[in-house]
Amino acid sequence: MMKYISTRGNAPELTFEDVLLTGLATDGGLYVPKDVPQFSPEEIESWRDLPYTELAHKVIYQFVEGCVDSAALQNMLNDVYSGFGHKAVAPLQQIDHNEYVLELFHGPTLAFKDFALQLLGRLLDYVLERRHEKVVIMGATSGDTGSAAIEGTKACRNVDIFILHPHGKVSEVQRRQMTTVKGDNIFNIAIEGNFDQAQDMVKASFGNQQFLRGERKLVAVNSINWARIMAQIVYYFYSALNLGGPLRPMAYSVPTGNFGDIFAGYMAKKMGLPIEQLIIATNSNDVLHRLMSRNQYEVHPLQHTITPSMDIAVSSNFERLLFDLYDRDGAKLADLMARMNAKKDVVSLDEDKLAKAREQFDSYAVSEEMTVATMQEVFAETGYLLDPHTAIGVKAARECRRNARIPMITLGTAHPVKFEEAVLRAGFDMPKLPHHLADLMEREERVNVLPADLDTVQRFIAANTFKD
Ligand SMILES: *Cc1c(COP(=O)(O)O)cnc(C)c1O
Repeated sequence: MMKYISTRGNAPELTFEDVLLTGLATDGGLYVPKDVPQFSPEEIESWRDLPYTELAHKVIYQFVEGCVDSAALQNMLNDVYSGFGHKAVAPLQQIDHNEYVLELFHGPTLAFKDFALQLLGRLLDYVLERRHEKVVIMGATSGDTGSAAIEGTKACRNVDIFILHPHGKVSEVQRRQMTTVKGDNIFNIAIEGNFDQAQDMVKASFGNQQFLRGERKLVAVNSINWARIMAQIVYYFYSALNLGGPLRPMAYSVPTGNFGDIFAGYMAKKMGLPIEQLIIATNSNDVLHRLMSRNQYEVHPLQHTITPSMDIAVSSNFERLLFDLYDRDGAKLADLMARMNAKKDVVSLDEDKLAKAREQFDSYAVSEEMTVATMQEVFAETGYLLDPHTAIGVKAARECRRNARIPMITLGTAHPVKFEEAVLRAGFDMPKLPHHLADLMEREERVNVLPADLDTVQRFIAANTFKD
């Protein structure tokens, strides 16, 4: 059975099931698999003709074996991905010679987060049913995570979900994708404050869960939850196999915020998929690009951009990569993270560690002007409208590409219809909402507006968690 260890080396080893039900490790670290499953090229090659759901089983079962029954996992995967709006689940769109966009936005909320959060909801209910337990999901969102988490858990019998968003500060489509989902276990809280205040309340609640009276635990749905990364590894294998991998290598460009999606690509590579290049594409919140290019880690204030789903000041999953760069030495990493989180001085990595990171990753930061220009450029070349996050990936791919003979795949992280500001700024008409969301603007909304006050929010959660 796979065991999971903390990046800071001072927390108990856990099974998949326990990792699924926890947020951070008790030492403040993130959980990673103790041993990474390895596949030979022959074995990967033998999966070439598998449909997405069966390939997903090959990859994911390694991580959950002993906690989730094999047939049950297959049923969950079939259930999740048959709900996607494209038969191929993750189709490739060609935008130039040897250049592709991997469309990851055919799930219910039109962003890649559905790949993981749809599965996460099923996995949670499966293990909670067996344990006769119920949990509370609490999360803060500035956009895509909230709606994907709500859609993923709306059918869960053992999960109540409370998603906080800053009142009046998310786009109408994004808000409605959260507030119009029906279910007794779903609660949208609009905080009279900004995203950071909402996030701080979530962090404080995870730190002290007494308001749940010891009867429930909080579960994290952001990408510190290993199960999310795990589900995202699959589409690297799927896209590579579709373009002739593993017999030839691939290159990927990944629009990055919290470093979750690109870490999944790094995992696929560790598991045996030949990946020649991984590009970290950021917007002007470029903490990772500054580290990679200048070896200076310095947290800058958050900037609000037309790519809100990549607006982060710190990139939490980067710790998982640092753990490997520092040879999985938890004590060293705990020390490094303490310095990085102090946000006082500029922190540098040891030169040899930075060199290792640069062997694995390239990076590029894309301004709003470049983002809009790339949307226009690709549309002019192909008639294909990119969402602004994906445009950042395409721009970085074109700037950083090392070998034009290797297929370059940019992860298409969202559908453009979610990001009106960018689409209009690039001079396009808004595309139509897909069929299953066609009446989104007419649906009834359910939302509770609360002040940015921790006690009020926690009392609201307690009152609605123990109502029966
Ligand atoms: C969440 C998100 C990202 C960033 O993904 P990370 O895993 O946090 O790096 C990029 N694009 C879109 C559309 C997203 O929703």
